[in-house]
Amino acid sequence: MTTSAALIPDFIRAVGAVIRDNAEEVTALDQAIGDGDHVTNLQRGLEALDGLAASLGEDWSAALQKIGMSLMSSVGGASGSLYGTLFLAMSKSLKGKELDQASLAEAFAQGVEAMKQRGKAGLGEKTMLDVLIPVANALQEASAASLPLPQLLENVEKVAAAGAESTRDLVATKGRASFLGERAKGCLDPGARTGQLMISAIAGVLRN
Ligand code: ADP
Ligand code: MG
Ligand code: MG
Repeated sequence: MTTSAALIPDFIRAVGAVIRDNAEEVTALDQAIGDGDHVTNLQRGLEALDGLAASLGEDWSAALQKIGMSLMSSVGGASGSLYGTLFLAMSKSLKGKELDQASLAEAFAQGVEAMKQRGKAGLGEKTMLDVLIPVANALQEASAASLPLPQLLENVEKVAAAGAESTRDLVATKGRASFLGERAKGCLDPGARTGQLMISAIAGVLRN
C-alpha cells in the first residue's frame, strides 16, 4: 500500500474539524494546567496550513518540509516547535521515498525521536509524547507484521487513546504543567489529548 500526498488537504481539513469540535474541552485542560492557549496555537497553525494546502504537491518529503516550516513560524508555544520538528524530521526520513507502511513507520519514529531531543522529554512526563511514542511503536509493530490497514488504524487509535488517558494521573516534569507539581494530577495533558484527536482524525480519512 502506498498513500498519495494528494490526501494532505483532506488530513488538514479533518484535523481542523476535530480541533474545532473539541476546542472547549481542550482549552479547559490547558487553562487548568497550562496557560489556556493550546487550541488557538494549533488553530493558527492550521490556518497557515490551509493557505498552503493547494500548493503542497505530490511528493511527501517536500510537502512535509513545507508543513514543518509553516508550523514552526505560525504556531508559537511549545507545541509549534515540537510539531515543526516532527514534520521536518519526517520530511528528511522520506526524502526520495514513497509513503508506505515501512517508510511511514521509520519516518514517524525518527520524527518522534527528534521531538524527544528538542523537548528533552520522554515517556511518562505528561506531554504529547505519551501519545506519540506509543503510536510510533505501534506503527513499527504493524509494519513488521505487515498488518492490513484497517487493523493498523485500529491499533494506532487504541494506543493513542490509552496514551492520552495515561497522562491523567501523571505529574508533569516538562512544560508549563510542571510548575504545578502534584496539582496537575487528575487532569489530562492538553497536548496529549489533541495529539490523540488529530491521529484519530487522520485515521478516519484513511479509513474512507
Ligand atoms: P505552551 O505550553 O507554550 O503554551 P501549548 O499550549 O501550545 O504551548 O502546548 C502545550 C503542550 O505542549 C503540553 O500540553 C504538552 O503536551 C506539550 N509540551 C510542552 N513541553 C513539552 C516538552 N518539553 N516535550 C514534549 N511536549 C511538551
Ligand atoms: Mg499553552
Ligand atoms: Mg503559551
